[in-house]
Amino acid sequence: MNLSFDNTQNAFAYKSTPDLKKAKFLISVIQNPLMVSLATKVTPFLMKMGFPINGILRNTVFKQFVGGETLEESARTAKLLGSYDVQVILDYGVEAKEGESNFDDVTSHIIEAIDFAATQNNIPFISVKITGIASHILLEHLNEAPRLRSGIHDSESENAAWERVRERMYAICDVAQEKGVGILLDAEETWIQDPIDRLAIELMKEYNKEKVVIYNTYQLYRNDRLLFLQLSHRLAKEGGFLLGAKLVRGAYMEKERDRAIKLGYASPIHLNKEATDKDFDAAATYCISNKDTISLLLATHNEASNIAIATAMTNLSFEKNDQHVHFSQLFGMGDHITFNMAVQGYNVSKYLPFGPINEVIPYLMRRAEENTSVNGQTNKELVLLKTELARRKSTK
Ligand SMILES: Cc1cc2nc3c(=O)[nH]c(=O)nc-3n(C[C@H](O)[C@H](O)[C@H](O)COP(=O)(O)OP(=O)(O)OC[C@H]3O[C@@H](n4cnc5c(N)ncnc54)[C@H](O)[C@@H]3O)c2cc1C
Repeated sequence: MNLSFDNTQNAFAYKSTPDLKKAKFLISVIQNPLMVSLATKVTPFLMKMGFPINGILRNTVFKQFVGGETLEESARTAKLLGSYDVQVILDYGVEAKEGESNFDDVTSHIIEAIDFAATQNNIPFISVKITGIASHILLEHLNEAPRLRSGIHDSESENAAWERVRERMYAICDVAQEKGVGILLDAEETWIQDPIDRLAIELMKEYNKEKVVIYNTYQLYRNDRLLFLQLSHRLAKEGGFLLGAKLVRGAYMEKERDRAIKLGYASPIHLNKEATDKDFDAAATYCISNKDTISLLLATHNEASNIAIATAMTNLSFEKNDQHVHFSQLFGMGDHITFNMAVQGYNVSKYLPFGPINEVIPYLMRRAEENTSVNGQTNKELVLLKTELARRKSTK
């Protein structure tokens, strides 16, 4: 097992030296929690007031974390990644705009992205956020009311709204299946996740009979998710379908804990990082040990987790590019993992959001916040960028 993430020449070969310098500047700025806190408050306000800050955003945080404003622009980024054997998960990054016509609009954009992905040889997946095609309040109601768990709901208008969400998802999945593109359903906050899980199981039953088209996302920072993964697997075996499992640690830890304290219920999040790490690695091991019935997408920037699963693959005599195991990092983060794994021949992809600049702002703000809160990782990214810049200078 000779997988190492230290080779910065591989990691940043796709970036020009000026782009590397820009990335270094950006990462050092967003390492500062005060700057990020200020930017995440002020930027949406300035945009709303019509201040001309699009140019600055486009050349900084947008360029680092987003594929482009349109499908055509993202296609260029996707092609560039493809030339380094890196695959792409396309994500229409517009977040949670309420209203039925907006939901229909997002559905059309997702279908367009699937059609486009089918014409490319390195875009095997599209990611879908249910919050882009369903009302948040509807999801909360479906999640909360225990009577709904039986499938019986006494609000006709909400039943009709949920039916429309299902129709949108079926329209998306029909095209995905026909075009041979996988669908990754993102995981959300616990207070809206139940209906997403139920829909994911329903869709897997329908579309994952011969191969995995639909993947649900399991957040292993939740203390019930390892069990839920195993339960989903049991349902798959009993129902005669294959399980698609995208594993993440989870993005909403602070929000989850704050809400639990505020409303006085036990936090659904593990007590510490070690417990999250343990469940994450156990879940990944569980998936690869059942690869005949589970396809795994390991979505993490954690070096140890990526190494652990790559090592387990070697021990189980898997090919590095086994079709049931896929690794993924976000565009703009973890390049040392992505590109070094690609060089070694693993299936590895970048999660690549695209969309109009003013509409992907919430996504960008989350990335900036994440880069501040995951401090160790940002430090590492900065060290790697500096190392590569120094290496290029010394070889001039
Ligand atoms: C391709 C891709 C797709 C993603 N899709 C989703 C998605 O659909 N839904 C979603 O929620 N997230 C998603 N994420 C984000 C993901 O959940 C993590 O927030 C992010 O990747 C950081 O975790 P890590 O494993 O990369 O790194 P690490 O640095 O190893 O882990 C950081 C994570 O560990 C957990 N953690 C940190 N401290 C503690 C603590 N004290 N106690 C308990 N747990 C702790 C948190 O989840 C934190 O985000 C995605 C990430 C990637 C790479």
